[in-house]
Amino acid sequence: MTQPARTFRLFDTMSRQVVDFAPADGQVVRFYSCGPTVYNPAHLGNFRTFLFNDLLRRSVQLRGWSVFQVQNLTDVDDKIIKRADEQGKTIREVTEPVSEVFFADRDYLRIQPAESYPKATDYIPQMIALVERLIARGVAYVADDKSVYFAIDRFEGYGRLSRLDRREVRAGARVSQDEYSKENAQDFALWKSAKPEDERVEAAWDSPWGLGRPGWHLECSAMAIDLIGETLDLHTGGIDLVFPHHEDEIAQSEAATGQPFARCWCHGAFLLTDGAKMAKRLGNTATVKGLREGGFSAAALRHFVFNTHYRKELNLSDEALDHSSEAVRRIGDFAERLEGAKAGTSELAVAANEGMKAFEAALFDDLNAPEAMAALFTFLKSANRELDRGGDYVEGLKAARATFARMMGVLDLVPDRTVEDAELVAYVEERLAARKVARGARNFAESDRIRDELVARGVQIEDTAQGTKWKVG
Ligand code: AMP
Ligand code: ZN
Repeated sequence: MTQPARTFRLFDTMSRQVVDFAPADGQVVRFYSCGPTVYNPAHLGNFRTFLFNDLLRRSVQLRGWSVFQVQNLTDVDDKIIKRADEQGKTIREVTEPVSEVFFADRDYLRIQPAESYPKATDYIPQMIALVERLIARGVAYVADDKSVYFAIDRFEGYGRLSRLDRREVRAGARVSQDEYSKENAQDFALWKSAKPEDERVEAAWDSPWGLGRPGWHLECSAMAIDLIGETLDLHTGGIDLVFPHHEDEIAQSEAATGQPFARCWCHGAFLLTDGAKMAKRLGNTATVKGLREGGFSAAALRHFVFNTHYRKELNLSDEALDHSSEAVRRIGDFAERLEGAKAGTSELAVAANEGMKAFEAALFDDLNAPEAMAALFTFLKSANRELDRGGDYVEGLKAARATFARMMGVLDLVPDRTVEDAELVAYVEERLAARKVARGARNFAESDRIRDELVARGVQIEDTAQGTKWKVG
């Protein structure tokens, strides 16, 4: 008997609708995700978007398709050049260490690696070739200063993704002083003629138009076409990239190839930290480093991110992360229990099958991770109840293990106790030292505040004659 086709639905920003999605060849989902600009370590906002890509990848795999994902590293742009020039470095000296931090943070957060991480500076010839194609097609022009611009008036579909009409695009365009040679204020740079600082930091390349460097939008079009092809199954990024970045990627790519650039566009909503309510322990930095120093686990951050639908805004707070730490602790306990169990009941098998169905239905309906998480916890509750009852049905236990493994294959929420315990110990010891200092200075308000902070994190402390003792739970 053939299985009924399982639909996989995604919200497509182009049509502003949830649509049925399948890869063009029925097997491999080929997608491009805009990656980090590597001049500062990526913050947790960036990682919310990268975790959304991870959820997408893993859900696609759960559906039975393979993935081929390309994620670029933007290693040449205004901010990088400015930073390099200030520090007397080349752009490469700025971007290489930051790229290393990105990969380490990615691994820490258990984000599955993409199949390819092209760097913009490795694709200069492809970018130049794309600009030449656009000039040959009459949609790009060389300005007096030897920069090359895309003439948006000569591309019929401009504004389709962002749904801006020409007047709005015009009203939003800003003309900086060095862009006076554009035909229209809203035209965007494909190639920028080199300035002295570009040459100083080794961000200038030879081209048919003289020394220069690529525009930001150009890199994604050139690398996506080179590594995936003229039409991608999917293109993803944060919501802020819809305009102008993705609008401009579409214009450049489609004007050059005459083919639709992406069959579906997916954008993730922002992570917010609102002023006074900003996470206390995370401080202003909100990086993976801050997260680790605050004693929060990777599993807890994944839970926190997936607990809100990717198209809804999400507020970062200590309270929410504490809640997630508690949730993943329960998941970790369950994982241990499942591993140690010898058998189950027939009802355990039923709970496993129902749990899996609900979990898949949620994820395949526009990646509804909060609902998938609810299915996980419903399963945990029934499974714990059945394990309490005992039973000798080995198949029941096998089914439960299989369901749990498949669920974790997507969400990946089991805390790594050795790594995470070590981080928790470091965090608690740092806080207890700060509390001792506060008490020594008779600042009891501060020492009470630290105690409350630890209690919120599930850490109980007790002051004894031998010093302060602590335990979790
Ligand atoms: P950037 O390094 O600025 O090029 O950004 C890398 C990715 O992070 C892009 O897809 C952005 O849309 C995304 N991004 C930037 N800020 C946030 C945020 N606060 N929340 C979610 N995604 C973000
Ligand atoms: Zn991009």
